[in-house]
Amino acid sequence: MTIENTLSIIKPDATRRNLTGSINAKFEQAGLNIIAQKRLQLTKDMAQKFYEIHKDRPFFNDLVDFMISGPVVTQVLRGENAVKVNREVMGATNPKDAEKGTIRKEFAESIEANSVHGSDSLENAKCEISFFFAEIELIY
Ligand code: ATP
Ligand code: MG
Repeated sequence: MTIENTLSIIKPDATRRNLTGSINAKFEQAGLNIIAQKRLQLTKDMAQKFYEIHKDRPFFNDLVDFMISGPVVTQVLRGENAVKVNREVMGATNPKDAEKGTIRKEFAESIEANSVHGSDSLENAKCEISFFFAEIELIY
């Protein structure tokens, strides 16, 4: 049994459509506990730093502009195999490829405006959590 923490971001397309609660319900139904959460307006500098691994991808500038187009909700999800479980609940990057019942299938608008971010490895999760949260903000 491996209990993990992973970083989740509810993206601006979802906060704009008042979907924070519906998305959180999906996490909780999957057994993930929301152990920290805050609503933020990212600055361009923060979004560029957060998505630095994608800086050479053709969609980088559009992605940064999208991520600062409205509020986001950053959160830490905790549970057994949380990194993998969260990626399953999110569904594929492109909502057209996402499985029925996943967040992106039900809520995403496009491959870019795809409602949620989730860490893709335990190592990245640790790094991404510390980008947004201090240790004392994780309550479990
Ligand atoms: P995330 O990192 O947000 O959890 P992901 O790991 O499924 O998503 P990545 O390949 O890491 O997907 O891409 C990061 C984000 O960049 C995607 O979630 C999406 O918002 C955007 N993105 C990815 N591919 C494209 C694309 N071809 N065109 C436009 N935006 C894209
Ligand atoms: Mg990713």
